[in-house]
Amino acid sequence: MNPQTAEMVPRKRSGSLPEIGVMTVIPLENLRIHTYEAPEAAVFVNSHILETENRLIVVDTQFLRPHAEEFRRYADSLDKPIDRVIVTHSHPDHWFGCEYFRDAAIYALSEVTDQIRGGGEAMIQAYAPTFGDAITETVVVPEHIVRPGTETVDGVTLAYEKADGAEAGVNLVIELPENRVLIAQDLVYNRVHVFLQQKEMDPWLAHLRRFQEKEYDVVLPGHGLPANMQALADMAGYLEDAKSALAASSDVETLKQHLVGKYPFYRGDYILDISGRYLYGTGG
Ligand SMILES: [Zn+2]
Repeated sequence: MNPQTAEMVPRKRSGSLPEIGVMTVIPLENLRIHTYEAPEAAVFVNSHILETENRLIVVDTQFLRPHAEEFRRYADSLDKPIDRVIVTHSHPDHWFGCEYFRDAAIYALSEVTDQIRGGGEAMIQAYAPTFGDAITETVVVPEHIVRPGTETVDGVTLAYEKADGAEAGVNLVIELPENRVLIAQDLVYNRVHVFLQQKEMDPWLAHLRRFQEKEYDVVLPGHGLPANMQALADMAGYLEDAKSALAASSDVETLKQHLVGKYPFYRGDYILDISGRYLYGTGG
């Protein structure tokens, strides 16, 4: 998802938005992972809660208010304090919902914080005409900086990595090495068509190949349901196909024919229409 392309998103008044996301819970030894997947109007975007013995760590806060609010209510139902919220990148579907978490400490990479501070208002203005009051009116800038490296929160080790040159330019990836979990967020879309804002796929693919060499039991995508290692392989395959499709296409319709033809069962093909405006310009 991206700021300047709001009109490509299916138009739905906020009153008619389906307010129900899909909740998945994965129980691990010292941790439960709760994933909220938004419905189609909010591009199947995921927010996660890492529930440790005593605390909650929230990863990304949703796009539209009804879903952010529902996600916050779910977090409150767990009846543990929110230790922190981590925003993985600056695309609006991952931080617009921060207004519902202003009572918590919000963290992001310094580059992501700068992008939200500098561009957040323009993102809100771009989406408001389409989604009306389902869009936040407030740029909530993360006040705490995530630095690449490792830390332990309530017995769970988190390893932060900055992935450059992928879906959003700068993406935070979080690994839970002791739990064999990879929170890939938008480096991985699981059976959802991918937002492609550039034709250069190799840096993104290199990140995926590197993660494929490791062993994870759980891979959490930014869009689409929680998965396992197969999602890394599927995503790398999709990006390889996107490379060929991009080389063979000079407009978005041709690109879509290639990718929807190859992945007819993937959800969210309108995300390719959004991509087309970046790849081929207005009307492309
Ligand atoms: Zn996203």
